[in-house]
Amino acid sequence: MGRTNDQGGFVMSVRVRFAPSPTGLLHIGGARSALFNYLFATGQGGCLILRSEDTDLARSRLEYEESIADALFWLGITWQEGLRVGGESAPYRQSERLDIYRRYLEKLAGLGYVYECFCSEEELEAQRQDLSERGESPRYSGRCASLSEQEKALKRDQGIKPALRFRVRPGAPLLFADAVRGTIGFDRNGIGDFIIMKSDGVPTYNFAVVIDDLEMKVTHVVRGEEHLSNTPCQLLIWEALGFTPPQYAHISLILNSEGKKMSKRDGDTSVAYYRDQGYLPEAVLNFLVLLGWSPTGDQEILTLAELKEQFSLARVSKAPAVFDRDKLDYMNSCYIRSRKGEELAELLLPFVQRAGLFADRTSWAGLESREREWLAVFAEAVKERIKTLGEAGQYIDLFRGAEIRSFEEEAREVLRGANARVVLEAFRRMVEAAPALNQMGELNQMGELDSAAAAAKTMMKQLGKDLGLKGKDVFMPLRAGVTGQMHGPDLDKILALLGKEDILARLEKTLSL
Ligand code: GLU
Repeated sequence: MGRTNDQGGFVMSVRVRFAPSPTGLLHIGGARSALFNYLFATGQGGCLILRSEDTDLARSRLEYEESIADALFWLGITWQEGLRVGGESAPYRQSERLDIYRRYLEKLAGLGYVYECFCSEEELEAQRQDLSERGESPRYSGRCASLSEQEKALKRDQGIKPALRFRVRPGAPLLFADAVRGTIGFDRNGIGDFIIMKSDGVPTYNFAVVIDDLEMKVTHVVRGEEHLSNTPCQLLIWEALGFTPPQYAHISLILNSEGKKMSKRDGDTSVAYYRDQGYLPEAVLNFLVLLGWSPTGDQEILTLAELKEQFSLARVSKAPAVFDRDKLDYMNSCYIRSRKGEELAELLLPFVQRAGLFADRTSWAGLESREREWLAVFAEAVKERIKTLGEAGQYIDLFRGAEIRSFEEEAREVLRGANARVVLEAFRRMVEAAPALNQMGELNQMGELDSAAAAAKTMMKQLGKDLGLKGKDVFMPLRAGVTGQMHGPDLDKILALLGKEDILARLEKTLSL
């Protein structure tokens, strides 16, 4: 695929790939690599390929592959070729590409780059030990590099299945220009012959990845710094096959708040964890992009469209990125606040269901319209106070039911105050008589809860006037008497959402304390 540039020359369109190993959930580091690839490619009309590097047969699982694709999709990262969508380089699972690898292996063997290695794990360990005792870097000694046909036949007769090694020929340093780290050089003489096909016929990562990148016409490899040490082996294979390698860009590690590398093994590094806690995908995406990349202006809250427009590898930093959970929380609360009533309510539904509310409904559409309105007003009432959608669950008891779950000591104190009883009793009479509040709990029309909240506000003001008390001397005992707490979401919204019966039941109990 290609297009012509302004001068009429041929330009390869950008083709990148995200190539996770399906041995666990999609974690933050992987998601960031996927995102950088996605932004880099789609920002310039290129193609992102999603493929599965499942050559570690023992640890790879289809359900991980599915969950990785789901997590990418949830984040809003889409791909043009690969798993689920297909494409001209199918199949996109390494375990289904063994014939392709064998074809290239034969090519390399024909060029004299491949030899059989019969060394056992114990022998290899002993060789490594020996080298390190002599102060040399541990690499394969080359022991099987020149076995005679007779020696090989003998090994085979003993039932030993050989692995296949790539023969590293002496030569000039391997140099490549990394788009993030600049020119990097490796001494090829220090690499040691490495295995490209294991004794069970499965290729190693370093071999399969080159063949896939070659066959899929990948132009840029954007991946984590942990793969930098694999790059020389991959360059050697590119060179042996006689092709130009892609442009590499190795992005920095992500460190946790203690300055240690974030590990896949920590549960809270998976994207699924953040989804389940109630982080919005756009917040996670926005947070991820800032792990190593910086925008051109001061604005850090950026939409996907803005990111596509602004992203470039030139602004990716070499320095390690630090995972700052407070910043993620801050970004998430910004994105939550930017959502309005019903829209936020729909997002909240699974989280309030988890906390027991509307638990038997299958979806948003399955709620009655008055329940949807209830949730929308609830969402507006709590959105300033929550950092995650999950946190909304803890507010439900405040807005629902005849029971006050618990009384704070401070609230008890206020209720012992001089006018508290008078305020609560007067309010009770008002609620019993008020026509607007009579409608609460039996909503038929949209917007009734808003008018109920407005009515509650008017009533509280009237109460102050009637009793000749300052606002605070009315609101404080009311809040304490209806919620058992001294701080929280707007009281008028709490009253509207509770409805007449529950307000009266709560006042009854508080007055009998
Ligand atoms: N399968 C590798 C991983 O999950 C990716 C390797 C690459 O991008 O070259 O880390």
